[in-house]
Amino acid sequence: MNESTQDPSPSNFIRHIIDADIASAKHQQIVTRFPPEPNGYLHIGHAKSICLNFGIAQDYPNAVCHLRFDDTNPGKEKTEYIDAIKQDVQWLGFDWGDKLHHTSDYFEQLYQYAIALVKQDKAYVDSLSADDIRLYRGNLTEPGKDSPFRNRSVEENLDLLEKMKTGEFAEGEHLLRAKIDMAAPNINLRDPAIYRIKHMAHPMTGDSWHIYPMYDFAHCVSDAIEGITHSLCTLEFEDHRPLYDWFLDQLQTPAHPQQIEFSRLNLDYTVMSKRKLHELVEGAYVSGWNDPRLPTLSGMRRRGYTPAAIRDFCSRIGVTKKDNIVEMSVLENSLREDLNVIAPRALAVLDPIKLIIDNYPDEQEEMLSGINHPNDQAMGLRDVPFAKELYIERDDYMEDAPKKFFRFTEGREVRLRFAYYVTCTHVVKDTNGNVTEVHGTYDPDTRGGKSEDGRKVKGTIHWVSAKHAVTAEVRLYDRLFTIADPAAAKEGDYKDSLNPDSVVTLKNCQLEASLAQTSLEQRVQFERQGYFCQDSVDSKPNALVFNRIVSLRDSWAKKG
Ligand code: ATP
Ligand code: MG
Repeated sequence: MNESTQDPSPSNFIRHIIDADIASAKHQQIVTRFPPEPNGYLHIGHAKSICLNFGIAQDYPNAVCHLRFDDTNPGKEKTEYIDAIKQDVQWLGFDWGDKLHHTSDYFEQLYQYAIALVKQDKAYVDSLSADDIRLYRGNLTEPGKDSPFRNRSVEENLDLLEKMKTGEFAEGEHLLRAKIDMAAPNINLRDPAIYRIKHMAHPMTGDSWHIYPMYDFAHCVSDAIEGITHSLCTLEFEDHRPLYDWFLDQLQTPAHPQQIEFSRLNLDYTVMSKRKLHELVEGAYVSGWNDPRLPTLSGMRRRGYTPAAIRDFCSRIGVTKKDNIVEMSVLENSLREDLNVIAPRALAVLDPIKLIIDNYPDEQEEMLSGINHPNDQAMGLRDVPFAKELYIERDDYMEDAPKKFFRFTEGREVRLRFAYYVTCTHVVKDTNGNVTEVHGTYDPDTRGGKSEDGRKVKGTIHWVSAKHAVTAEVRLYDRLFTIADPAAAKEGDYKDSLNPDSVVTLKNCQLEASLAQTSLEQRVQFERQGYFCQDSVDSKPNALVFNRIVSLRDSWAKKG
């Protein structure tokens, strides 16, 4: 397993339950599972569940975590999603070993358990229409009423169920339901569905089934078959727990796992429901599931997030039963902390303007020493070429600048990082009055950016040599939405608050030549700009594209 995932996670109420179960010898081995439905790509919310479940497996002696695809709904599920989910879990640094399962592996067993329920007169085939089933269910204030088919004989139910299975009925014609209590205050217990008819082939089982089990039945039984000890799920399943326990109480399963609920992760300025993510992808509001602005793990990977940063974030937010919305800045701070340590520095000019050093010999070039990391000497030095014509950022020059502007304005001396002190002398403007060139003179006695006479300059700016620089496209990302809680907008309206500036593409950025050599995985800090990496989809050796992973500071904190 990935070494950096081995720090034990902080404790939480679930780990306290597990500790007690080990102390009381209730369990010899802890078994958890991560049970995604393969109907979309994983997002940062799933990472919370992955870190929780796989983290327990890492930290407790001989504990294991299963990866189980909850594939009971062939209409919405695809192998593409299965492959992407596996890739994401591995990328996060976790390993299910040989514990890879599918709910569809248990279709036959699930069916036998359903027959056992029928034989105990705990399940029946209902033939009401979908509309009637809804009417008969009642609501929060009114009890439901029994279906006229509720008292079918066991023999009749077994016969109908068998025929449902072999495809003799149309979809919606019949339904297998648990026989619990139509007046139960908890609506989940009002004879919930167990199997419905679906004439649809399944990616794993082909067309051998014409009925598919419902989540509430399939999930608890699959957990029990696998010997899961603690079945961890999000709070919306709290009201389903009595049903989870009811099924397992009726059936002779090898185990009775304990369901424990915790709160979902919500992040501000984004959406995480799969329905909305599907809508954004299919409606081409974003470029795909791996769009770097999405909270999907594939998008975050492409953006340049590190698995370590995501794990750190999940450990910081903790696991509780309190619902809340976590600020994006918490995630970005975990990211900055990791990138600050691992990312070598480089010089890159995003909005270039020429700086011409008039007293530097025309044909001269020299190599200066660039420090790759201020706090990590092991990263060493690199050669940074210097010449007469450079690029600097357009906004590092200002006409009639105030005293506190420590960058270029006529007469002001500025340090060029790793290079020389340069004093701005004048600028050249085009006919519209826009500055096209900044001119200055350098002091040859300040090589390396230090002066012999000890005179100080306040400002240090980055630059690149014009003839050595490589041109690249740089994509600057911002929040995908302009409001903190887009999901709270009226249904369908959340897209109105998409941020039109969530990506800004700069085409003519001038990069230090060494950046052309970076690998696709390499994250780099462009000094004064932020952390960047190549876009794994669009960047080509002779057409570089860099993504800004995150800025150096949180610019949203100021706005708020
Ligand atoms: P949907 O949006 O369709 O309800 P889901 O996001 O719950 O789907 P699943 O594939 O059922 O997707 O999720 C797999 C596991 O990840 C479940 O155990 C679920 O509770 C957990 N999970 C999903 N979203 C979050 C979240 N935001 N925070 C924490 N855990 C989550
Ligand atoms: Mg779900």
